[in-house]
Amino acid sequence: MNQPHPNLWHPYSQMRNLNYVPKAKATLGSEITLTNNNILIDGTASWWTACHGYNHPKIIKSMKEQLDLMPHIMFGGLTHKPAEDLASKLINILPNTYDHVFFVDSGSVAVEVSMKMAIQYWVNNKVFTKRKFLSFKDGYHGDTLGAMSVCDPTEGMHTLFKGYMPEQINTELPISKLQKEALKNTLLNNRSEIAAIILEPLVQCAGGFKFHSRETLKFIDDLAKENNILLIADEIATGFGRTGSMFAFEQSQIIPDIVCLGKALTGGAISLAAVVATSNIYNAFLSDNDEDALMHGPTYMANPLACAAANASLDLFETEPRLEQVKNIEKELNTKLIECKNMKSVLDVRVKGALGVIQVKKMHNLNWLRKRFVEEGVWIRPFLDVIYIMPSFTISNAEISKLTESIIKIIPEWECKI
Ligand SMILES: *Cc1c(COP(=O)(O)O)cnc(C)c1O
Repeated sequence: MNQPHPNLWHPYSQMRNLNYVPKAKATLGSEITLTNNNILIDGTASWWTACHGYNHPKIIKSMKEQLDLMPHIMFGGLTHKPAEDLASKLINILPNTYDHVFFVDSGSVAVEVSMKMAIQYWVNNKVFTKRKFLSFKDGYHGDTLGAMSVCDPTEGMHTLFKGYMPEQINTELPISKLQKEALKNTLLNNRSEIAAIILEPLVQCAGGFKFHSRETLKFIDDLAKENNILLIADEIATGFGRTGSMFAFEQSQIIPDIVCLGKALTGGAISLAAVVATSNIYNAFLSDNDEDALMHGPTYMANPLACAAANASLDLFETEPRLEQVKNIEKELNTKLIECKNMKSVLDVRVKGALGVIQVKKMHNLNWLRKRFVEEGVWIRPFLDVIYIMPSFTISNAEISKLTESIIKIIPEWECKI
């Protein structure tokens, strides 16, 4: 019971030490039912995807109808209604500078495509020197090689893959005066080589949930424009309401050249991601020359079943009060997590939208901690130096309390383990 299957290889895990993997059999709302019939309240929305809760009837219905009609068809040379509807819907909810959507199958691939798009934008404009990216410390953009190259160098395991992975420029976010000057100089000195800056707007998620302000974001955008450098907003984690607005970058009123979407795009039902470009980017690929076309095309591009899920998910943002629910979660997390501030192992407690973060001074006994949360009836999965809650927006206040109370109960027990 709870042992990994002998034929399975789990993510981010030292398999020799992985001896506790609860087995899920069903989901509903914010609940995960395990094979032993225990129920866990989910504090992670399945890696930040299930924004409407699990098995939302509207998403299930849309997918079932699509399943009977056409679960998949190639997108090379063919089109279909689910993709057309979804592209229009995305363009409708984004600021009106965006007009084209490129669908892919996962977030990392969206980041890869955004990077290829940026490089080729310059090539098509006859600029051949801009072939590098600038990214920020604590950033995370995915696990494929191009995406890894713009992740935080430590967490992205840059040493391990040195020589195989493209070398990029990684600097600190410009928060202090010193850091602002440093970024200014780095851009000035490398502007002829940098194709784009890539960042996670307002919250760097997998790098430890570090927040930055809308002013910082605006500062970066201004510098990018001054130096003739594109800006890629990786909204894969922050998109679709998580930080309180539909997209995080909207809070600083900037217009990134390229936006990557994923995770909650289908409401957590199935994998789908998208790269959205401004007309300026798109137009750079229009010419009489076939070589100027964007050369990318995943086999399952714009999968109709996934598009059907995403269409239903976006409709739910219109018909149900998601952003108000996010506001309520923010308020609940703020009042309920404040108690952790005084705990001796806690460094910081911070909340933004439907995201609550407890940063500890030093992580230890991680496997014990993860198991203890499951015993307590919640699915909370600490990593690095954070214990966080990123629930579905439909979670009830009672369920939020169950999550926060388990944290308040378990941290002092965990402190005694050291
Ligand atoms: C999760 C994530 C990715 C990678 O998405 P996958 O679907 O796991 O490939 C990229 N960028 C950010 C900001 C993410 O949170």
